[in-house]
Amino acid sequence: MLREKAKKVARVDTSIQKLLDDLAETMLNAPGAGLAANQIGVALRVCVVKGDENQIWGLVNPVIVKSAGSQVGYEGCLSKPGWVGEVERYEAVVVKGLNRHGKQVRIKSTGFTARAFQHELDHLDGVLFTDRLTRLDTLQRVEDLVGEEHEEAEAVAAASG
Ligand code: ZN
Repeated sequence: MLREKAKKVARVDTSIQKLLDDLAETMLNAPGAGLAANQIGVALRVCVVKGDENQIWGLVNPVIVKSAGSQVGYEGCLSKPGWVGEVERYEAVVVKGLNRHGKQVRIKSTGFTARAFQHELDHLDGVLFTDRLTRLDTLQRVEDLVGEEHEEAEAVAAASG
């Protein structure tokens, strides 16, 4: 399912609200910085992302409507635990989607939160961070790294989505 394109949600009802709650709970328990519905076995375009101030954005049918700049940094994935790799992303994105009440919202994000949105939206299209590595040899196992590198990789893994 991780390799399939998730389906658009036709109507935001209580089952979608429950899905958003499940995603948020699973993300916080992991812990992670974001989670897409197809990562927990539901092939719908629904995801959650944790913001800079620990707010939780829950979005239905999200799309990137604006993007700018670029950032290169390490990234991990809750569906590929224990691995990190270097990925280039937009520095800033505006994401449009429906909130849990079916209302259209636009969320501006930069830096790490923008990275998390791009990672989750990729999931909804069946794309994994390992498809977007700047170089294949940047993909590393957290447990193989030592010292400071290990600590940095652990922090990245704990903030994966
Ligand atoms: Zn992921």
